[in-house]
Amino acid sequence: MSPHDLNLRLSRNFTLREAVRSQTASRLGIDNTPPLEVIPKLVRVAEHVLEPIRAHAGVGYSPNSFFRCLELNRAIGSKDTSQHIKGEAVDVEVPGISNFDLANWVSQNLDFDQLILECYQPGDLHSGWVHISYVSVAENRREILHYNGKFYARWLP
Ligand SMILES: [Zn+2]
Repeated sequence: MSPHDLNLRLSRNFTLREAVRSQTASRLGIDNTPPLEVIPKLVRVAEHVLEPIRAHAGVGYSPNSFFRCLELNRAIGSKDTSQHIKGEAVDVEVPGISNFDLANWVSQNLDFDQLILECYQPGDLHSGWVHISYVSVAENRREILHYNGKFYARWLP
């Protein structure tokens, strides 16, 4: 198992390539190769989050943003505490499902650490995206938040 093998399967339908792909990294020449110890975390997220969403949606999709090395995470303006850096979080949008409905489904059907409906504008079904982190059954906080681009608030779907 090598973090440089982009064809590495994290789960049945998702590869390492999809976990590290980033337009910002390409543009800025940032090497977004994860440390080896991050791979098992990416596998967990793929198996417990990405695959069940794919099965629910019935369509293939690629995550918007998954692993981000510290340099990339800073380049996009995210905080150093982001779980994307640890390979524990993924940002998802799925064709044919509004981000509100997706977040709602995840909240009721999956185990997760944090679920954040990010930058979703009511009335614009496809605005924003859904951020989901997964650590382990024992450590998951099952926290649900809404982020409007400025503030985080507790959210009950
Ligand atoms: Zn995120």
